[in-house]
Formats: sequence, C-alpha cells, structure tokens
Amino acid sequence: MKVTAMKQTEPLHLKPGVVTVGSITADVTAFSDRLPEPGETLLGNGATLALGGKGANQAAAAALAGADSYLVGCVGTDLFRSLVIEGLEGFGVDITEVRDVNDSTGIAHIRVDASGENDIVIVPMANSHLSAGQVDAAFHSLSGRVSVLLTQLEVPTAVAMHAIRAGRAAGLTVLLDPAPAAELDPEIWPFVDVVTPNETEARILTGISVIDSASAVEAGRWFCARGVHSALITLASAGAVLVTSDDVLHFPAFPVTAVDTTAAGDAFAGYLGAGLAEGRPLAEAIRHAMAAGALTVTRRGASPSLPSRSDVDTLLREHASAASAAQLQHSHN
Ligand code: ADP
Repeated sequence: MKVTAMKQTEPLHLKPGVVTVGSITADVTAFSDRLPEPGETLLGNGATLALGGKGANQAAAAALAGADSYLVGCVGTDLFRSLVIEGLEGFGVDITEVRDVNDSTGIAHIRVDASGENDIVIVPMANSHLSAGQVDAAFHSLSGRVSVLLTQLEVPTAVAMHAIRAGRAAGLTVLLDPAPAAELDPEIWPFVDVVTPNETEARILTGISVIDSASAVEAGRWFCARGVHSALITLASAGAVLVTSDDVLHFPAFPVTAVDTTAAGDAFAGYLGAGLAEGRPLAEAIRHAMAAGALTVTRRGASPSLPSRSDVDTLLREHASAASAAQLQHSHN
C-alpha cells in the first residue's frame, strides 16, 4: 500500500465561539450634573443614542475580546431597528439568530450624573417576543461552533431558564448574569456553571446584604449550596470575589477613575465568556473581565464604552509589570 504524507489541513474553526441569549435595546442616555428629583425637570449637558441591552452589550464585548460572538434575540420593525442592527454588525456580532418581530425595538432610558451614577428604565417590547423555540433553533444551528453561553434576565425569565437548561444539555459552559435580579426557579442553579451577580443582585437573590468581601463570600456560598459551580460576586471598585465549593478567591479591582459605570458588568461578562471559550483558566479569564470592566467605567455610555482587546491587554501588561516591579523592590529590601 502506498503511504502518502498526511496533508496538513487547517482546523475548520479556529476562533472560540460564544452564544448570548439576551436583550437588544436602543439606549437613550441623558447626562446632567445631578439626577432629577421625582417630578423635577433639569437641563442636561449631553445626550447619546446607541446600541444597548445586556444581551447586545455582552455579545459585543465577547466579539471585542476576540470570540466568534453569536446573539440570539429580537428587534422590532421601527426606526431603531437599523440603529441596533448596524451597531451589532459594527462590533462584529453575528446576527443570523436575531429575529425581526412585529413590535418596537426595546428601549433603555438612562440618566447619568456628573459622578457617573446612573438610573435606568427598560421597556422590553421586541425582547418580550424571544421564545424557547427560537433558542432551540439557534442552538441547533450553532452546534459545534460555540462552547460558552451567556444569558441575563432582560428577556422573559422562562426563556432565560430554558436557555440555561438547553445550553447545559448541549454541553456549553453556562454563565448567568442575574440582572436585573428576578425571582428564579430554585431548580435552575445546578445548571449554572458561573453566576455573576453584583452586590444588589446578590442581595435580592440570596437575602444576604452584600456590603464587603465577607458578606460577598457568604452570598457566594448561598449559590454554591444550591448547585452553582462558581459564584462570582462583582463589587464594582472593590473588585470581585469568587466562591466555589472548595475555594474562595478575592480579586482586587484595577484602579481607574470612573466617569460612567454603565455596562461595566456587561464588559465583564462578555470578556469572561470569551476568556473561557478561549480555554483560559477561570482565574485568568476573571482578570481579563475585570480589566474590561475597569476600562468601561472610564468612558461614557454603554456599548460605546466597551474596550478593545488591545486596551485590555495593555492594562493587564501594565499591571503585570507594576506587580513584578513591586516584587523586585520587595526582594531588594
Ligand atoms: P455591574 O455593572 O453589573 O453593577 P460591577 O459594577 O460590579 O458590575 O462591575 C463589574 C466589574 O467591573 C467589577 O468586578 C470590577 O472588576 C470592574 N469595575 C466596575 N467598576 C469599577 C471601578 N470603579 N473601578 C475599577 N473596576 C471597576
């Protein structure tokens, strides 16, 4: 038998894949020195109109991080449709699984004050049409191309829960950002690999008031006791705490000056998902996610403030060299 050298073939798919099941909104943001009192009208000093929604932002962040990023969601047929679709395409998000529905595109009405504090009213509209059937069809067509699922709670809760179960059944690593916090089926937790609540969401879900690292650990243990593999409580400028059944790790934040905290959690989730899809160990993916979250708060807006991979890598490098310089200093003393 003639033996021919095996031809070196390119792997069919080189990039890691992340699928996000989530919301898409047009974000209408007004900036003012302070937030108005109830009933008060204020003159602001800036306004933006941009792609937003936790699903869209997290899918955009995953794409910026370098993953093949697929979004499963719904948009309307109104004038905001082109804004959000072009926004997603601009970030390089694959929108094959985004469906047009006979409704208005979701809206987020955001106000930001001079200190970077915000409040938000979301009107889901098209997002409320997302169905379990659409999720199933999307997972079927993306089979073999994605390894990580990101989901949040700005779409119907039952659909997010379905995506979690279907994602687990499809062998995906399932990340749940339980935002905005809502009462969930207690049976869902064992299907979640990583849950990423902020302090407020952790308090609403667990009943534990998260005010410091110790209470964050307690809240993390609440999730683990119910079957979550890794509970990652994000603490804004205080960093994050990771709790698993046999470990607790504290991650200090990257020191930055915050101008607008919108979308920090979305940058965090998108980069975390992309890092895991790349095969990074969890602790390393968390550092990437934290660098992305930190850079996001230094810029105004939601999706426009999501950082590029090169900016995230630069921040990580600066801190790695600062840490090794400190170590060197320490060893000389
Ligand atoms: P959310 O936006 O969901 O409330 P957080 O505010 O906790 O989430 O932010 C997510 C992550 O982004 C934090 O764990 C942290 O790593 C980073 N981050 C957020 N705010 C800051 C900040 N002011 N300084 C440095 N890092 C921040």
